[in-house]
Formats: sequence, C-alpha cells, structure tokens
Amino acid sequence: MNEDDWPFETTFYGDDEGMDAPASAFDFAPAEPPSAEQVGRALHDVFGFTAFRGVQDQVVDRVLHGRSTLAVMPTGAGKSLTYQLPAVLLEGTCVVVSPLIALMHDQLRSARANGIRAAALTSADNDREATIEAFRAGRLDLLYVAPERASQAHFRELLARARIALFAIDEAHCVSEWGHDFRPDYRLLRPLLDAFPQVPRLALTATADHHTRTDILAQLGIPEDGLIVAGFDRPNIRYTIRPRDNAIRQIQAVIDENPGPGIVYAPTRARVEQLAASLASATGRRVLPYHAGLPSEVRASNQAMFVASEDMVMVATVAFGMGIDKPDVRFVAHAGIPKSIEAYYQETGRAGRDGDPAVAVMLWGADDFARARQRLSEIEPHRLQSERQRLDALAVLVETAECRRAVLLRHFGEQPPERCGNCDNCLDPANVVDVTRLAQKLLSAVFRTGQSYGMGHLEKVLAGIADDRVRQRGHDQLSVFGILAEDEKPLLKALSRALQARGALTPTEHGGLALGGDARLILKGEASVMIVVPPKQEKKRRGGREGIANPVGDPLFEALRELRRELAQAAGVPPYVVFHDSTLREMATARPATLAELGTIGGVGTRKLDAYGDAFLAVIRRF
Ligand code: ADP
Ligand code: ZN
Repeated sequence: MNEDDWPFETTFYGDDEGMDAPASAFDFAPAEPPSAEQVGRALHDVFGFTAFRGVQDQVVDRVLHGRSTLAVMPTGAGKSLTYQLPAVLLEGTCVVVSPLIALMHDQLRSARANGIRAAALTSADNDREATIEAFRAGRLDLLYVAPERASQAHFRELLARARIALFAIDEAHCVSEWGHDFRPDYRLLRPLLDAFPQVPRLALTATADHHTRTDILAQLGIPEDGLIVAGFDRPNIRYTIRPRDNAIRQIQAVIDENPGPGIVYAPTRARVEQLAASLASATGRRVLPYHAGLPSEVRASNQAMFVASEDMVMVATVAFGMGIDKPDVRFVAHAGIPKSIEAYYQETGRAGRDGDPAVAVMLWGADDFARARQRLSEIEPHRLQSERQRLDALAVLVETAECRRAVLLRHFGEQPPERCGNCDNCLDPANVVDVTRLAQKLLSAVFRTGQSYGMGHLEKVLAGIADDRVRQRGHDQLSVFGILAEDEKPLLKALSRALQARGALTPTEHGGLALGGDARLILKGEASVMIVVPPKQEKKRRGGREGIANPVGDPLFEALRELRRELAQAAGVPPYVVFHDSTLREMATARPATLAELGTIGGVGTRKLDAYGDAFLAVIRRF
C-alpha cells in the first residue's frame, strides 16, 4: 500500500498519549456473558428476528463466551448476524476485516438501517477523522477495515487505545492458498490478532473445502474445536438442469415465470451482449449486460441499477456476483455449463439469500463439454487429473436422473436424503434408458468412418441414407450402414450429448468426432451407457413452495412495495435494506393496526419501527 493512502496522519496521536482515558484493550476485563434473555431481546429489537437460524446460535454463543471460532456457513445462512449481534451486546467495538469495499458498504448500510453504530475505514470513506474519534470514544459497535489496513502498525496502535470486543474476519478463505481467492494481505492479520490475545476471533466463510478449513484454523490461530460447520443445503433453491435446444426461448421462459430480479450467466462477452439484447426484446423486462470488457463506469452503473431493482435481469460473465449480496435474486440461469460443481454451487447460491423460493436453471450442450475437454489439452500436466475430475463430476450432475440436490451435497461430503422434492428430477422424474447397444452402434460408426465425421454424417450412415457424400466415401459399403432401428432414431441426439459429456466421444479439430475416454470399454461391452430422457412436457406446478412466493398483483402488497420504493429512494438505499419481501408479505397478510402489532412482524426491529412504522401503518389502513 502507498503511504499516501494511509488514512491516519502519523501525528494523529501526537503527544496526547496520557490524556485519554485508558480504555486500552489491555484493561479488558471479561464481563459476564449476556443472558439468553438479553440475547433474544437484542435479536428481536435490533434485527426484528424471532429465532436464530441453523448454527447461528452456536456461533453467537461461542463468541459471547469469548471463544475463537471458525463458522463455515453457506451463502444466505446469515453469517453477518453472528458478529453483528455480539457487537451490539458486548462492551467495545467489533473490528470486521472484509476484502471488498463494495461488500463492506453493503453490510454497513444494512447494519445502520438496524440502528447499529457502524463505520468503515477505507480509501473510499472520507469521514476518517470522525470515525477514528467515534471509535476511540467507544461509540462504535462495528468498525469495518480492509486487510491491508488492518495489518499496518498504525492501525494496531489505534486499536490499543480503544476497547475491542471481537475480531470478525469475513471471507476468511482468503487467508488460505488452498482457497479459490487467496489474498496475501490476509496473511498479515495474524500478528495483529496475536497482539490482542484476549480478544476472540470469529472467522467466517462459505467455502466447504476441507483443506481450506484446516488451513484457516491454523493461519488464524483458532483451535480445532472452534470449527462450526453448517449444512450446505439451500432448500429454497430449486435446481433444474436441461439440455439446451434454444437458449433464448428457454431462458425467456425462466424470466417470464420469475418476475423478480435474476442473473443469467453466459460464458463469453460476445454471448453476454447477444443474449442481453435478445432477452430484452423477447421479455420486455429491463435486461442489461455485465462483463469485463465494458467500461468500468458502465459496469458500476449496471450493477448499481441491478442492486436497487426489484425486477431487473443481469446477463453477465462470472465476473459478476462476487461481492454483491442482494438478498432478493429470484433466479440464476446458466446459458452453458459452469467451470465446476463448486463454481455452480457458488453462482447459484446468489439466488434466494432471503430464504424465499428461488430457481437455478442450467442449460447444457454437448459442445460445452467438447470445448471444456479440448481445453484440458492446454493444462499443465500436474493439474490435468484434478481438472478432468472436475469435468467428470459436472457431467454426472447434468446427466443424472437422481435428485440434483443429493448429487450436489454428496459432492460436498454430506449425506443428504435420496430425494429433496424441490429439483427437476424429484418433481418430474425422468426416464432412464439403457442405450449401451445404441452407443456401440454409434461408436462403431465413428471408428469405421475414420474418426473424422460429425453427427450429421454419422446419423446418415447409421440410418442408411446414401447421399452423395456417403457414397463418395464408400460409407454405404460399411457394416454399420443402415443398422439403426426406427425407435432408436429419437435417442441419437441425447446419446451423442451424453457420450461427449463423459468424454467417450471427443471433438476433432475439423468438427468431427473421435473415440476417447471409455469408448473402447463400451464397445467391448465392459461399460454401459444410460441416458436420461427428460419428461416431454414441463408441467406448470402450483402450490407447495410456490405458495409462499410474493403475491404480485395483490393491491396491498403492491402498495407496500411502492412505499418501500419511495422510502428507499429517499434514503439512497436499495429497497431490501428498508424491508425484505417476506416482511411486506407478512404485513399484507397480518394487517397490523398498531405499532406494537407491526413490531411483531419478522424483520421489523425497533429502529425500523421508529423510522418507517407510521408510514406503513398508514398504507395498511387504506385497505
Ligand atoms: P451470508 O452472509 O451468510 O450470505 P447474510 O448475513 O447476508 O448471509 O444473511 C442472509 C439473509 O438472511 C439476510 O437477508 C438476513 O436478513 C437474513 N437472516 C439472517 N439471520 C436471520 C434470522 N435469524 N432470521 C431471519 N432472517 C435472517
Ligand atoms: Zn431433488
């Protein structure tokens, strides 16, 4: 970091050392941890929640007892509450280390909306002196800092002069080289933490990987018994994975069924631009592109619009999403395969953080796998094995007739139930067909024609269609000519897709297909081939989980949304910072008449009741 960036003048402390009240961290005398009743009251009054979710209470309990902890919780599980609640209850300030300024500001906004005294020290905040003063005077519950600042000696001096309740290290996988997002600055945190041995540490991450976890514990000096891992299931996300036949039409259907905000991931910039344009005209919704090739102002403005929006669609490369915690994303669609199951889980995890129903739809094609397998040839030998495994795992996920959630969770080392009831395969069981014989026919045709023709030509040979090209090459003389049975024809496309996904067919440079992977085993009858035939018609489903979706079109709900929009605009925050959809929904059903009644609704804390209560009651009274 450049010294000029340093937010504090070195003279800041000047000679006035002895003049301050010695609220030094070294005097910290551990007080009695708050009682269960106090904790419950703060949960309700500050956050408006009636109960903890999942492992939140375990994490909060450890932290309140001053014990260092690593909490591994999936996106949307409510990690921020686990340090914000202790920050409110404990004497002193909770120092939060967070890797992205955008993320910090999001958190800051939400914390302040709940009346939590929070500030950030970053290059983008110009109220440094006021922040430092408030911090030293003990008037801050939360202080957010970037890791490179946190590791500076000046910062350590500043901390020594205030009372620190807790160190929260967000996105803690950044400390590990095993993680997917290593940040060298995170390695410098340890000396700071060690300088305050009596202050508990709370590391937070959504990364499931075992190596990364162990490494975080070691790097941040957290005891092994401090590890708390939440289940990785995201029950409100409905997974659907379909072969791609017409991406625009298929994604348009997803958009039409989901009126809320959504993200469409596409593999390249060109594809992003193209899809965004087509979807905008096909759906009539606001659809904007996001990729690294756009000028940064355009990117920033498209992102800001998305965060504030209640119905926008963002078509993006995977560059988009990290550091956005918009809770009301209702769908994530993949126009092609993601990089790995881990990436898929992370990208789809951006849907439904608010716990409301959300959908994740992936479209895949044989060419996605062909391209990915081709890329394997460019990979250094030592990574080849693991990259191939990644791709194979993905092929299993898209090809399976089993519960998608079960496949995903098993991948992360969990033992889920066989059926989840909320994925395409559970809702509309697909047919599994044994096509080993047909696969042998196709692979033989590939072999006999010299491993250089594409599916179009192969299909003709198998079906016994002797056009000019077939005759010129003498392929009408081969033993495989015309061996396809009539009822096998409709399965050929799905078969070729499946064989390409598993690598038994690989693309040649000139657009042909060659044998690969376990093709020889299939030909010898030592490996079988199953394909999944998706149900013909995708029926519209009613009831069930969809029963709790937003009552779009209900006049009271719409009026509450309108008021939320106005209040959000006036405060310069996204609507979800005012209230979540679930809170408006509960208001529309319960129709509270008094502030006291309104205060019992989920998401309505004391601060928000004061700020917005009367306005919302007035709208409810009109109906
Ligand atoms: P994470 O950082 O783990 O992805 P967040 O801290 O952003 O998750 O929380 C996700 C959402 O869940 C937030 O919108 C938050 O308001 C909500 N939430 C957190 N804890 C609770 C709870 N105990 N009850 C109800 N909602 C909660
Ligand atoms: Zn399922």
